[in-house]
Amino acid sequence: MECMDDTPRSAMFDDVYFSAKDGAAETEHVFLNGNNLPAAWQGQRRFTIGETGFGTGLNFLMAWELFEKTAEKGAFLDFVSVEKYPLPPEDIRKALMPWVERLSPYVDKMLAQYPMRVPGFHRMVFDGRVALTLIFDDANDALPEIEGVVDAWFLDGFTPSKNPDMWTEKVFREMARLSHKGTTFSTFTAAGFVKRGLRDAGFLVEKRKGFGWKADMLGGVFEGGETASLSSAADGGIVHILGAGLAGCASAYVLKQYGFEPVLHDPNGIASGASGNAVGIINPRLSAHRTGESDFYTAAFSQTVRQFPSFDAEYMACGSLHLVNDDEKEKRFVKTAENWGWGSHMQFCSAADASTIAGISLDKAALYIPGAARINPALLCKSYAKDVAFEKNDNADGRIILANGAAALDTLPDLPIHTVRGQITMVRENAQSRNINVNIGYGGYISAPAGGMHAVGSTFQKWMTNTNANPDDDEANLKNLAENLAGLGGFEIAGHRAALRTASKDRFPVIGSVEDILVTTAHGSHGIASTLAGAHLLADILRDGIRSLGKSTLKNLAPARFYEREMRKSAKKA
Ligand code: SAM
Repeated sequence: MECMDDTPRSAMFDDVYFSAKDGAAETEHVFLNGNNLPAAWQGQRRFTIGETGFGTGLNFLMAWELFEKTAEKGAFLDFVSVEKYPLPPEDIRKALMPWVERLSPYVDKMLAQYPMRVPGFHRMVFDGRVALTLIFDDANDALPEIEGVVDAWFLDGFTPSKNPDMWTEKVFREMARLSHKGTTFSTFTAAGFVKRGLRDAGFLVEKRKGFGWKADMLGGVFEGGETASLSSAADGGIVHILGAGLAGCASAYVLKQYGFEPVLHDPNGIASGASGNAVGIINPRLSAHRTGESDFYTAAFSQTVRQFPSFDAEYMACGSLHLVNDDEKEKRFVKTAENWGWGSHMQFCSAADASTIAGISLDKAALYIPGAARINPALLCKSYAKDVAFEKNDNADGRIILANGAAALDTLPDLPIHTVRGQITMVRENAQSRNINVNIGYGGYISAPAGGMHAVGSTFQKWMTNTNANPDDDEANLKNLAENLAGLGGFEIAGHRAALRTASKDRFPVIGSVEDILVTTAHGSHGIASTLAGAHLLADILRDGIRSLGKSTLKNLAPARFYEREMRKSAKKA
């Protein structure tokens, strides 16, 4: 982004982000008035705006400001926007300088949660009444991934003649899929092919007076469609959550943000199981290709990086190195870095560079994730649950979320989940290990030191269910460490803890609804991140709102899918 006469401009598209005359006045004329706002959301409990081209966020911020001033108490605004070339936060702040006094409370809140600039769905919730789903991707790829219903469209993707890719038949068709009878749209352009494209997709299109020196613009309404508006959908109310580990506590924390009254239930107290460890490392689960699954971990990881620093949970953004300790990993990690599109947030590096990053000598190349972190999961659970009602039992009626690990099987016996015992070993730092700057993964892991200690993990014992920590497992953890980080040894063991995690057959979490019961389980060893993204999805399901994850990701998560598959299998056998 460059600035000419204070107007931000894209060199790539040779076009401005908003009118040089007055960006805010343009937003008001073209997008807010153009969609009959605020009148259109009066009397509605829910209103959803879809946008193509997030840019500086000016349209979003002005819609939020207007909603704040005019919408009824208890009403909720969902804003979903796609952006292929996300601006860095400092450019956004600079571009919005002309409205600093008016918009700064909104800009500050938005930038505090503005996601890592990596492809995928990114959800932020503000003030318990506005959710922004920012999708970093090409509109043509992103719109088909959206699930939900839109009430008004802001089409704002640079002049069509300079950026025809943003104004395609596919984009218009997807808009139609996400619209209901009465959904409105507006755009600054009056280009003939845009007018025809929208008409062909089922919109009634009219030419209106444009802003500033533009003679015309387009606006209109969707005429077809079976889909109903969700404007009267009710939010809020009590939701009982069984299980007060990470899955339950994250769900409670997130549901509160959307206006629900969560009640956590756990006979054993908060963070009594696998979530009760003192150290957990936060990483996405790595795969060679960008898939629905990797998008899930991207969304999850990006949320933790923004939110956890404000928790009182010993968060440390130290980064992590994933060592290449076999041929398969060498191929996989090179591909991960290429395919995930994380740019500088993920780098494949030589053993020499990995050593510089690590602060100790390493003899293996590695995948480096600078934003990775360590946290205290037990404290994280407590922070999540701080203002949430808690009951030391598991008796609950009404709306229920099963967040109770493998005990979910008592209610839904066919879920394809099982337990995996894991023991971590706490060791005191020594003269050599004190220099380690990052978490280092090699199948097992050693955390960066904090308070003079490293966590070394973890055993992975599907066949065992006892949770007594034992010395053989400490030995196994330290042997694995010594084999992968040659020369690092001589540790004094300071403690250990064993617990049962829950995992699924394909090692992907099980989140969604089965027979009106919501479930979030099988987060395996990546639960610190995945439970937070999972909680937003449960909130989306309860509210029947825009989904915080893409369609291809949802396909993988839905427990209903597993459930049906298992039922089919047992029917076949019988
Ligand atoms: N609404 C913005 C605001 O309030 O600042 C201004 C949007 S600007 C005119 C157009 C935006 O569309 C740019 O940020 C650009 O990067 C984005 N864009 C261009 N082509 C795109 C595509 N194919 N998919 C998604 N976004 C695209």
